[in-house]
Amino acid sequence: MRLETRAPGKINVCLFLGPTREDGRHELVSVMQSVTLADRLRLEELDGDGDGASPDPAAFDVVDCPGVEGPNLVSTALERFRQATRWGGGPVRISIDKRLPVAAGMAGGSADAAAALRLLARASGIEDPELLHDIAVGLGADVPAQVLPGRVLATGAGEVVERIPGVTRYGVLVVPSDRQLSTPEVFQEADRLGLPRDAQGLREALDAVRAGLPDLPDALCVNELQPAALSLLPELEGTLERVRDAGADVAMVSGSGPTVLGLFHDRSAAKAARDAHFPGCKVAKPVGPHGGEVLAS
Ligand code: ATP
Repeated sequence: MRLETRAPGKINVCLFLGPTREDGRHELVSVMQSVTLADRLRLEELDGDGDGASPDPAAFDVVDCPGVEGPNLVSTALERFRQATRWGGGPVRISIDKRLPVAAGMAGGSADAAAALRLLARASGIEDPELLHDIAVGLGADVPAQVLPGRVLATGAGEVVERIPGVTRYGVLVVPSDRQLSTPEVFQEADRLGLPRDAQGLREALDAVRAGLPDLPDALCVNELQPAALSLLPELEGTLERVRDAGADVAMVSGSGPTVLGLFHDRSAAKAARDAHFPGCKVAKPVGPHGGEVLAS
């Protein structure tokens, strides 16, 4: 059996930052949108020791992810899936073709983990959305929203996911950086700068966002982590300015950065801006659940 799926990256169309919870995570209010820029994942069954007769198939599972050093979130997803479901299927290899910039604020690791859960659900026949959501919550704040790609309102620390209708055509110019930013360091910098709202302030942001849904007005397309990313990488200000000058309706740092996004109401304008000013960059578009379909290969 061979299965494949895409792991669409996400953008935070808005991200309002709230106080830190007891578990150390920040509360937030964010509209997250999956986009067509995506990693590719393939799952295949392994032979040999992994013929299903092994007492511990998990010991033979393999995750290949060229370009990403160190522990991979997809390996953790695999372990947690086996633990939570007691699936005894033989060992598998999951191969990841990275197209999303790494440590760049597009939640590529989380997207890959969510995509791996979709592949495993199909491979095992255990397609239980609630169970997948619970596993996803344990993997990280950005994972639950991506188990099913699309547009969501995420609250809590990102794990309370409310699906909202898709939006009209728009284009997202994605300008990667040659630098990386660690998400925890950006949150720490936000604390150091005193950026987080108090609980009341976050409630007000939530009310304003709800009133603007599903297609947020430009004035609400705000990333409250951006000043922290700029404080750590001041050169991003220049990129934001270039994206604005190229005609973007909104220029913003993506998530915890350092990728910069240009949101264009008109996708052809995004492509024209890319061709004129950002050759080699991608123009993505919003994508819904079909962007994460699992296919036999
Ligand atoms: P987020 O917006 O969720 O913070 P990000 O886009 O900033 O994510 P990722 O690309 O998800 O960052 O990578 C963050 C870290 O996770 C990297 O330093 C990387 O080593 C590690 N990582 C683990 N698994 C993966 C994966 N499958 N793809 C990318 N990075 C991974």
